[in-house]
Amino acid sequence: MLPNFAYVRARTVEEALEHLGGEDTRVHAGGTDLLGCLRDRVFAADKVVSLRDVEGLTGIRRAADGGLVLGGLTTLAEVSRSSEVRGLYPGLAQAASAVASPQLRNQGTLAGNLCQRPRCWYFRGEFHCAKKGGAQCYAVGGQNRYHAVLGGGPCYIVHPSDTAPMLLALDAAVRIVGRAGERAIKLAEFFVLPEVELARENVLAPGEIVTEILLPPAPGLYSSYRKVRERGAWDFALASVALALRSIGGRVTQASVVLGGVAPAPWRAEAVERAIVGTTVDEKTARDAAAAAVEGAEPLEWNAYKLPLIRGIVEESLRRFHDYQPS
Ligand SMILES: Cc1cc2nc3c(=O)[nH]c(=O)nc-3n(C[C@H](O)[C@H](O)[C@H](O)COP(=O)(O)OP(=O)(O)OC[C@H]3O[C@@H](n4cnc5c(N)ncnc54)[C@H](O)[C@@H]3O)c2cc1C
Repeated sequence: MLPNFAYVRARTVEEALEHLGGEDTRVHAGGTDLLGCLRDRVFAADKVVSLRDVEGLTGIRRAADGGLVLGGLTTLAEVSRSSEVRGLYPGLAQAASAVASPQLRNQGTLAGNLCQRPRCWYFRGEFHCAKKGGAQCYAVGGQNRYHAVLGGGPCYIVHPSDTAPMLLALDAAVRIVGRAGERAIKLAEFFVLPEVELARENVLAPGEIVTEILLPPAPGLYSSYRKVRERGAWDFALASVALALRSIGGRVTQASVVLGGVAPAPWRAEAVERAIVGTTVDEKTARDAAAAAVEGAEPLEWNAYKLPLIRGIVEESLRRFHDYQPS
């Protein structure tokens, strides 16, 4: 059962900000993650502020520079079927349609997808784990099949979002509005690792709202998103890879490769990027680059299977890029 809390349906961003700010005030977008967290007492709320009636937070429009501006409250279903997203950033349409089920994509929003909390069963369960201010991460030495193999410690959650790795690969930014004002920051600065900030997964201060996601122009950009899940139906990623590549005559000039489901934040695979820039990504390059994707990985007792999985999907995605090149 949900606990009691005050509920506000804000009509404007200003009204929402008036009600937000305290440690236990929460933003409600689609509610597909938030309400489960409140029901399961993962965290508390004195006041929940709905953004659903706030004007101007939905929709997809062209930016003056040729990129796209996506309202934070745009549903994942809208993102996945938008002809502009599909035409300019097909990888983002693939990532949005890889989230959960049609019902959840109709309800869940893009900003909510970026700001959702981790799925670690110790964090979600009745454990006073390190992330909740406790002394230890129970995943270390516990049931860690779905936990981080890269970037973990002192907490080993994985970032659960499908759109986050793709948006990071696309060099997207988010517009953030709070009582102190407004700023736009790149996603590369938005997500934080537990070694920097244990209690939260991004730099949002209490009461701040993500109002827009900003995509830079995409001429000549190839993008793709590949996700592996345990079940054929809706499920979170065991591992995923987002590619955003520019090339001339099939030769890669710029590469952004980001892994999902394997680290506490979307994980930039820089060694893969280095291995493919300047090449046409032939079979051997794809294989060698994929091997580099797990450089520095430190699997826990039950999740070493993620390493060949990562290598496999990176190699497969790179080979698709190679095959896609017009001859
Ligand atoms: C069964 C199930 C399966 C799922 N499978 C997947 C999956 O495969 N892939 C995946 O990526 N996700 C998955 N999800 C998670 C979730 O449904 C999606 O991430 C969804 O996009 C969350 O969006 P929402 O609008 O419902 O967010 P909400 O639940 O409203 O909010 C989520 C969190 O973000 C905060 N928040 C929301 N909007 C904003 C904003 N604009 N500014 C600041 N903070 C904000 C909220 O306060 C809350 O903490 C799944 C969820 C369920 C229940």
